[in-house]
Formats: sequence, structure tokens, C-alpha cells
Amino acid sequence: MKFTELGLKPEILRGLKDIGYEDLTPVQEVTFPHVLANRDIIARAETGSGKTAACAIPLVQSVDISLNEIQALILVPTRELALQYVSAISDIAKHTKVAPFAVYGGFPIATQTSKLAHGVHILVATPGRLIDLLYHSPLSLSEVRTFVLDEADEMLNMGFVTDIEFVLSCLIHEHQTLLFSATMPNAIKHLAKKYLTDPLTIELNADKIAPSSLIHCFKQIDRNSHFDSLVGFIEKEDPAQAIIFCNSRLNAIKLSDKLKGKFKSVDLIHGGQEQSRRTSLFNRFRANKVKVMVATDIASRGLDFSHTTHVINYDFPRGKEAYTHRTGRTARMGRKGTAITFYSRGDLNDLKELLRRNRIKPQWLGKEPDMDNLKKKRSSGNYSSKHGKRPNRQRPSNQKRKNNPPRKR
Ligand code: AMP
Repeated sequence: MKFTELGLKPEILRGLKDIGYEDLTPVQEVTFPHVLANRDIIARAETGSGKTAACAIPLVQSVDISLNEIQALILVPTRELALQYVSAISDIAKHTKVAPFAVYGGFPIATQTSKLAHGVHILVATPGRLIDLLYHSPLSLSEVRTFVLDEADEMLNMGFVTDIEFVLSCLIHEHQTLLFSATMPNAIKHLAKKYLTDPLTIELNADKIAPSSLIHCFKQIDRNSHFDSLVGFIEKEDPAQAIIFCNSRLNAIKLSDKLKGKFKSVDLIHGGQEQSRRTSLFNRFRANKVKVMVATDIASRGLDFSHTTHVINYDFPRGKEAYTHRTGRTARMGRKGTAITFYSRGDLNDLKELLRRNRIKPQWLGKEPDMDNLKKKRSSGNYSSKHGKRPNRQRPSNQKRKNNPPRKR
């Protein structure tokens, strides 16, 4: 189906033409009529499926520009996603008078407050900064008619549940809620049951988690051959653009230092860097000015790098969803991509489970492991097995927030 068949405003069609969107993606075809009809939706969508525009286009279409108030609120887990979301909306709304804006931590709150005072129609926000603004500025959500929760499972994992419930309590106008999540744990179902009205549940590609244009390679290493295997792979494949994932900042720093001695155009991203540095690196990577990016999992959620041809799991991904999220950075929108995962003998049980869960047909580089005769499970594969207990990131209750000044983010 073409965007021109949807009755969209001509200014929006001009914006879509500028960014080269002609046909709707399958996710957009299914969700569009329901979003426009104001229906509540719970959608489990394949990563890289076009879900941002599936929300953003109807939101831009339905803004009433004569009303100088926030009419749509989009909550996302990270600053990078907030920036990506708002830039997608700005492209779509380029020829309209709709004003989108993003607020997130790590940026002066006063600048954000003054921009908000000038009038914003669509606000993209991370939970912490939004709540700080609700407490410390005249920001009002009373005219919000559409509320989008993106990457809802990740927000819950990060301990934002209290914050989300608080934001929901601020939405006093009758509104539509659109909930996007890669997985549907019970906590999400519970949230949806409590706050959504007769939601339409859409399970897109639920039986096929990994994009089909992705090739999944696996290579066994031992401690001595780990780095050389990586170098050999990069030299042989010569990726147009690659992200190399490590499980910790320290590993990522060490690896990027070693790689810089071997290859040009290597950079590093992790959660400990200044926000401005991270943003500029993301922008350079997205513009294909960096060829190899070593990253911790901060780079793995939802972000759209259309040039990335290879995802390399230098460290074996831990936790149930990490493989899907990391490898979802390539093979987006039907493009081709290759994922290679290095594993050691100790990872075999987790590897077997990963292949089963994601229904992956592996390509073995080197010898195929004998997984039928595995002994007792050595590692549970969850975060705590190798790194100690995961830190409790449950955020303070609203009452506590009222009594304590917000901490700096
Ligand atoms: P998302 O899943 O929202 O991160 O989108 C993945 C990629 O698809 C982004 O690069 C979008 O710009 C692109 N995209 C989304 N919708 C369309 C469309 N209808 N036609 C072409 N590209 C699209």
C-alpha cells in the first residue's frame, strides 16, 4: 500500500517523499488504520520494522496546530532513542507547523524548559527527565491525546515502572495508548491490563524473531585465539560497517585500544561517556563516517544504523534478549546483514538455548560443536551468572521524589 492512498495531509506526503518513503512496511499497514482510529494497541514488532514511523505519521497527522499544547507524548528508555525518534518526527513534519521536541537527561534542564515554554506539540521523553520537568517546570500533560510507550520491556527492565505509572496518572484527558515492546513479559501484560482500554494486540512476526535477511555465523574460540579470530574475520570479510559488542566497559575499552593498532576508523561507545560525545559518535556512525564501532549493550536497543552490515558479538551475549537486540542493528528493513558470535566451550549450553529460542539456522565457521552430548549446565545464561547480581535500578517512589530533590542524571 502507498502513503498517497491514506488521505494524509499534503505537507506530510511532501515530507515522506523527501525521505524516500513510498510504500508502507507490513507493520505500518497493520497498525496505521487502528492508530488513526484512536484505538489502544499493544504491538510486538520485529526490530527494524518501521514502527517509529508507524506511530509518528498518524501523530503528526492528528496534531491540532491551533492548540499550543503537548498533544502526543512518547516515552522511550534512552537518550539516543529519544533523539532518533524526534529526528524521525521532524523529517515527517518538516513541511508542517507541527513542533516536535525531545527531553532527556544529561542536557541542561533550563534550555529544555524554555523550549517547552515556546510551545511543543509532540514530546519525546525519557522517564527520569520528564518527571523532573513535571515537578520543576510548568510542563503540562493535560492535553495529551496519544501516549506512546516504546521499548516498554526495556523501560521495565531499567526499573522505570513507578515512573511510567506516575506519568500515566498525569494524563487526565481521554487518550489513546500505544505500547510497543520486543517481548511481552507478564509485567507488560499487567501494565496493559491496568491502563489500556480494549487494546488491539498485534503480534507481528512472533514466530520469526530474527529478520530473515540476517546470516548467523558462530565461531568457537579459546582465550588465546579470541582477538586473532576477530582480526582474521574483519580482514576476510572487510565489513562496510560493523558494530562489535562487548559485555563490559572495560572489555570494550581494551578491545578498541587493540583494534586501533590494527585498523583505521575504529571508535568506542559505552554508557560512561559524556552524552555529547555519545551523540556525536552516533551521528558519525549513522552517517557512515566510522567503520568499526566497539560498543557495550547501550548501542543495542532499537537504534537505527542503516549502513551497518555486520554485528560481531566479541563477548557472548548474556541474558535472553541481548542476541536479538544486538543483531537487530543490521539487516534492517530487508537489507542483508551478517552476525558473527564468538563462543567458548563454556558457552555451549547457552548457545544451544539461543539457537533454539531464536529459531536460528547457524553457519559454523570452523568445526561444528557437538551439542547433542552436552554435560550439565555450567552457566545459566542470565546476567547474574557471570557478573554478580544485577544492580537494583528500582527508582524512588513518587512520594520519595517529592521529599528529595531529583538527582543529577
Ligand atoms: P524503525 O523500525 O522504526 O527503527 O525503522 C527502521 C528503518 O526503516 C528506518 O531507517 C526508517 O527510516 C525506515 N523506514 C520506516 N518506514 C519506512 C517506509 N515506509 N519506507 C522506507 N523506509 C522506512
